[in-house]
Amino acid sequence: AAEEGFDVEDVEAAIDEAGHGPLPALAVVGRPNVGKSTLVNRIIGRREAVVQDKPGVTRDRVTYEAEWAGRRFKVVDTGGWEQDVLGLDASVAAQAEFAIEAADAVVFVVDATVGATDTDEAVVKLLRRAGKPVVLAANKVDGMSGESDAAVLWSLGLGEPFPISALHGRGTGDLLDEILKALPEAPPQRFGTAGGGPRRIALIGRPNVGKSSLLNQVAKEERVVVNELSGTTRDPVDELIELGGITWKFVDTAGIRRRVHLQEGADYYASLRTAAAVEKAEVAVVLIDTSESISVQDQRIITMAVEAGRALVIAYNKWDTLDEERRYYLEREIETEMQQVAWAPRVNVSALTGRHMEKLVPAIETALAGWETRIPTGRLNAFLGELVAGHPHPIRGGKQPRILFGTQAGTKPPRFVLFASGFIEAGYRRFIERRLREEFGFEGTPIHISVRVRE
Ligand code: GDP
Ligand code: GDP
Repeated sequence: AAEEGFDVEDVEAAIDEAGHGPLPALAVVGRPNVGKSTLVNRIIGRREAVVQDKPGVTRDRVTYEAEWAGRRFKVVDTGGWEQDVLGLDASVAAQAEFAIEAADAVVFVVDATVGATDTDEAVVKLLRRAGKPVVLAANKVDGMSGESDAAVLWSLGLGEPFPISALHGRGTGDLLDEILKALPEAPPQRFGTAGGGPRRIALIGRPNVGKSSLLNQVAKEERVVVNELSGTTRDPVDELIELGGITWKFVDTAGIRRRVHLQEGADYYASLRTAAAVEKAEVAVVLIDTSESISVQDQRIITMAVEAGRALVIAYNKWDTLDEERRYYLEREIETEMQQVAWAPRVNVSALTGRHMEKLVPAIETALAGWETRIPTGRLNAFLGELVAGHPHPIRGGKQPRILFGTQAGTKPPRFVLFASGFIEAGYRRFIERRLREEFGFEGTPIHISVRVRE
């Protein structure tokens, strides 16, 4: 039945869209200057961004959303190289490694005017071993005459090379069609099966906040589970640790254990790692070093977890270092800098002394519970009805936009679709979010609210 001017199909489509799970991820990989950034821009349909970035500048985003032929996916931008840091081969290998960990499919870009180099061949080996679907893009084929250069790349053994010009758009439609074939409809097993493997935790934070100390602390006090549970994927970078009687999977710990503390310019790699871990996790535990001021970098890392829609716990580490004065200022900083995530459970810990380690698991469980909360439609609409009656939207242009009804379209994190009779202002949306949290909790989880307006 039509409900206040929305027909059933509109409503179903809106709920479908808002309720989409995590999007499949595509990584664009290749040597510097082959045209990765140009291709990323073309795929995401934007001219801003990547190419203009200066080397050495930390980007806070490494993933973008794209759509082709009605399907949405994420593009993982690995173009922010700092060759000087690692050397060419190592940096391309690190990029491929990241792509293998975090992506569902890979576009391998080769400059057809140069042909395949030794570095390209090395990356091909890595990609083959990983077993992820690979689409080969032969770039800089700006005209017919370049087609034969592209054909030579059959020799890489990755199947058909797609001749493209990322710069002019030639051939990119065919490439995108092929990419869609390579991408799964939905990422496989990201959130485990209903029967449930261990819950997945990403321990993230700037270098030196104490991630490896915390991991050692929990692994020391508790039992490191040696035998893989049946049905869990074997991934040497993940560690199974039993805490509070439950087995948890700490994802992507290799980056923590390996302790590759790169010098200048390592920021970009650190954010790639963080993005990879966040992708694989259900809940992110963000460590903050309380002996220093909360930084922009801390906030970026938190934003990454929130934008990825993960449950969130904030662990204020190095609590043992605080004197009264620092503690006073820390609380002020938390009030001002961490306002956006005031909903996240907080634990004050010391990875050095083991202080309050026992509070970590309950905080993680709280966050996961919020992340999975589902509000029945009836209850939601009773709540919305009262909210709208008590605090109507301000009148604009002689009209009063009203929320007509709403539904929760998904969980992990909770996603809501509200249907309205007119444009709902940002302030009112925030008000709704605040009231939703007051009413239903949602501790430790971002929530998404989208509003559909009847035309
Ligand atoms: P990245 O280092 O792999 O990200 O490469 P960029 O996207 O920054 O491109 C490197 C250079 O190649 C830039 O000067 C681009 O304008 C140029 N380029 C990229 N794609 C094409 C293309 O299809 N044809 C031509 N002729 N030049 C291109
Ligand atoms: P990561 O780079 O995030 O893995 O950080 P580490 O675990 O390597 O820690 C960086 C430094 O901080 C090391 O010298 C640790 O001993 C120290 N550290 C870590 N946690 C604590 C803590 O709770 N208190 C104090 N005082 N030092 C800590």
